[in-house]
Amino acid sequence: VPCTYKCIFGISHPTKGIEGGTNHIVMGKGYSYLILTGPGKIYWFLNVKNSEPTYGKGVPSYTVEDERRLAEQHFEDRLNEYDTFRDMYKNKIISRLTPLHEYQWKRWYFGRVMTIGDASHKVSYPWYLQYMSSNLGTCRPIRTLSQCH
Ligand SMILES: Cc1cc2nc3c(=O)[nH]c(=O)nc-3n(C[C@H](O)[C@H](O)[C@H](O)COP(=O)(O)OP(=O)(O)OC[C@H]3O[C@@H](n4cnc5c(N)ncnc54)[C@H](O)[C@@H]3O)c2cc1C
Repeated sequence: VPCTYKCIFGISHPTKGIEGGTNHIVMGKGYSYLILTGPGKIYWFLNVKNSEPTYGKGVPSYTVEDERRLAEQHFEDRLNEYDTFRDMYKNKIISRLTPLHEYQWKRWYFGRVMTIGDASHKVSYPWYLQYMSSNLGTCRPIRTLSQCH
């Protein structure tokens, strides 16, 4: 299973430059942000390209310290006229760093055994959210299961 990107995702209290009811995409070299707003909160993703892909058991499990280090490397990234990533991160309620695996098995069943959900396909989250709308991750498995009975 290959993995090229990692993602810090989190929820923060609002910052000066991010108005409620707006969505933001910020692109940089080797990284991008997706920032969505809800009532009184900001939901955000910082996606970062790894220097090289890792595979299978070589894909790291990240610690809180890994997240802090990566976040600090991006503190000066400008998100808008008023905010840098530092402002959003300092306002955080919760956040996590996760690897973003990407694969789609050509064969996802064997006899009466089948895989569904992320066990059969997993795509880099920011792209499918932006271009294919959200909730595919959970809707596809639910649809598959409901068609089974
Ligand atoms: C940052 C991020 C944001 C996302 N946001 C959205 C979103 O807004 N909307 C959306 O639809 N999707 C979203 N997704 C995708 C969504 O999270 C996944 O598509 C969905 O959780 C997949 O569900 P699943 O049940 O197939 O797999 P998982 O949620 O990965 O569940 C698999 C479970 O199996 C357990 N497990 C693994 N190995 C074993 C074992 N050997 N024995 C027993 N248990 C085991 C794991 O611990 C885990 O609990 C997001 C993903 C990421 C990374």
